[in-house]
Amino acid sequence: MSDTNPSLPVLVSGGGIGGLAAALALTRRGLRVKVLEQAPQLGEIGAGIQLGPNAFAAFDALGIGQEGARAPSTPTRW
Ligand SMILES: Cc1cc2nc3c(=O)[nH]c(=O)nc-3n(C[C@H](O)[C@H](O)[C@H](O)COP(=O)(O)OP(=O)(O)OC[C@H]3O[C@@H](n4cnc5c(N)ncnc54)[C@H](O)[C@@H]3O)c2cc1C
Repeated sequence: MSDTNPSLPVLVSGGGIGGLAAALALTRRGLRVKVLEQAPQLGEIGAGIQLGPNAFAAFDALGIGQEGARAPSTPTRW
């Protein structure tokens, strides 16, 4: 007999890219997930981000590579 309760959500501590990626992966596996983030709101930090090929492989594995990461971005005004 399993000691896990599938009706309970998986708790992910931290809504950074690691926590959100884990939450998305678990959700796609059919699990309920609750992300606990200490910050009052999510926001941008810095001016941009450099992503290596392994990051795009991870986006593809999560199903957000084509329509998410490779989608045209919004131009930033400087
Ligand atoms: C200025 C800067 C520029 C960067 N540029 C790049 C780049 O160009 N390319 C790149 O690949 N990487 C870059 N990085 C690194 C990248 O941002 C980190 O590697 C990545 O964000 C780590 O993700 P993470 O989810 O592990 O942690 P974090 O992004 O730090 O997320 C952790 C989250 O957990 C929350 N948290 C912490 N403790 C608790 C708690 N007790 N309860 C609830 N929530 C909690 C925090 O508030 C935070 O939101 C940069 C980092 C910085 C600072």
